[in-house]
Amino acid sequence: MNRKQKKQLCAIVISLLLMIGAMLFAPDGIVGGVLFCTAYLIVGYKALIKAAKNIVSGHFLDENFLMTIATIGAFATGEYAEGCAVMIFYQVGELFESYAVNKSRKSITALMDIRPDYANVENEKGELVQVSPDTVKIGDVIAVKAGEKIPLDGIVIEGTTTVDTSALTGESLPRDVAAGSGVISGCINMTGLIRVRVTKEFGESTVSRILELVENSSTKKSKSENFISKFAKYYTPIVVFSALALAVIPPLVTGGDFVTWIQRALTFLVISCPCALVISIPLSFFGGIGGASRCGILIKGSNYLEALSKVDTVVFDKTGTLTKGTFEVTAVHPCNENGECENCSHKHFHGKCADKNELLELAAYAECYSDHPISHSLRKAYAKEIDSSRIGEVNEISGHGVNAVIDGNSISAGNMKLMEMVDAKGAHECHKTGTAVHIAHDGEYLGHIVISDVPKEDSQRAIGELKSVGVRKTVMLTGDDRRVGEKMAAELGIDEYYAELLPADKVERMEEILSAEGEGKVAFVGDGINDAPVLSRADVGIAMGAMGSDAAIEAADIVLMDDNPLKIVTAIKISRKALKIVKENIVFTIGIKVITLILGAFGIANMWAAVFADVGVSIIAILNAMRQVVPPVNKD
Ligand code: ADP
Ligand code: MG
Repeated sequence: MNRKQKKQLCAIVISLLLMIGAMLFAPDGIVGGVLFCTAYLIVGYKALIKAAKNIVSGHFLDENFLMTIATIGAFATGEYAEGCAVMIFYQVGELFESYAVNKSRKSITALMDIRPDYANVENEKGELVQVSPDTVKIGDVIAVKAGEKIPLDGIVIEGTTTVDTSALTGESLPRDVAAGSGVISGCINMTGLIRVRVTKEFGESTVSRILELVENSSTKKSKSENFISKFAKYYTPIVVFSALALAVIPPLVTGGDFVTWIQRALTFLVISCPCALVISIPLSFFGGIGGASRCGILIKGSNYLEALSKVDTVVFDKTGTLTKGTFEVTAVHPCNENGECENCSHKHFHGKCADKNELLELAAYAECYSDHPISHSLRKAYAKEIDSSRIGEVNEISGHGVNAVIDGNSISAGNMKLMEMVDAKGAHECHKTGTAVHIAHDGEYLGHIVISDVPKEDSQRAIGELKSVGVRKTVMLTGDDRRVGEKMAAELGIDEYYAELLPADKVERMEEILSAEGEGKVAFVGDGINDAPVLSRADVGIAMGAMGSDAAIEAADIVLMDDNPLKIVTAIKISRKALKIVKENIVFTIGIKVITLILGAFGIANMWAAVFADVGVSIIAILNAMRQVVPPVNKD
């Protein structure tokens, strides 16, 4: 509880004691009146001021206004105790609300714990000094000691250690790093001292981007929330006018007692206060987003949480999403292998054909600047240092491959589409199933390297679990070879697959899937590498493996910090639970309201019943919303 809340609690307790004292010892007369008024003002002066301010600014029909006229009315008709009680319990509800909001905000900002306070850099004397992370520049070397937070993204140049990524990914397993590994800001360095060459400025670092994303998540309102604000806009005036009618019409028509009917109208006002709805719906979404962030799932707004709960088709990108994206080289086939190549003139590449080593070298050099998983794997397979002075102009064509100038030769490395594009004579498919990277020099085919990728351990299970949570259809889109796509889809149990797609074809397929889909929503899961257009086109774009990938964080609606496909299932479960709670709260609060309103209008429920109904409903709805702050993590 913070100081403001403690003060509010004090005011509530003092007022309550004064009110009870007055009720016991001086229910009537001047002393009682003074005690009741003091109690009322101590607890209610803020609401009175707010209501007055709202009236001045013209937006007066809010719950402060309702409470103010109801309580002042109660005083005016001689019901001092009731007037006090309404204000006191209204404040109890408010206190409860701010406590709950704070608590779930904290669970989101448990992530704020990832914000580093300082970075250690070496000064001229070789001593370590602490500086603010935003003063460190790209290329600077920082030291991170055991137990410290890694302040900036970078590459380890010295030392080995294990890092705890749990604050970012929700994954408790520590990761080993050594010289050459990339490290990400926000992780904790657990065991050894490491020196890190910084690769991104603080403003661009993973930590800053995540914090920015989390801070903005509450601005994107869901349909349910918009519904509630619209509802409140019409509801409150209706209630006020109904109360007015209730106070005036029955006594005029039946000739009854004005005071009785005014009291009934006031009761009606108290009952009808929409606090419980106004508070609990955003809180329920907030709880869901907070719970998800603890599992390393960042949701950019409650609208996406809502859409996610209605997903019934999940479309996947293949490489890096369902598969590990680390290709193993399984074969290198130069075109003249065993002298079988008829089309080869045997002298198109420095006077002879390329051999296996040269083929791999050319591929690795051509791919040198690419971020595609294929490129990483080829460079890894080549394993030797790349001399970048040998590389000239490089041109990556998404969904095709790379054209590069190496030692003055123009080399193309990519799929058959690229070979057609550069019109490579003699290019042919490989008999082996796998992703083939074909290589050509100036329109002459040199051969191909066959690489293959394996599915992630959890992909198959994730597809199965998606089915069991009610996702109707799973689809895989890939730019890879048809045979590779077919094999992978069968292996993982995916319903439909589309292969050999260019990034633009993927968008087109997504459009088709979207238009074939009726009520349900379509989610797309990708890694953000060349699939950003599809990510943004889907109803819900989910990017995975976001640790360090800016493109993914940017384009997606939901960001999975690590690359475990099971997190998609977790995210859907969290969203369904949040939406279920939202619905429960709407039905429950409106239900109770309607019942008490009717009872109140007929004079069966008095002011006391009204107060307890209102505060009670709010508190139950808030507790219900808070249920999910501790999320359902499946760790089995
Ligand atoms: P996926 O849908 O499987 O993620 P991409 O759209 O990333 O596939 O790539 C589609 C295909 O384009 C790859 O299977 C590969 O044949 C070719 N390709 C794309 N980028 C490269 C590259 N940098 N080097 C070689 N081939 C590439
Ligand atoms: Mg891809």
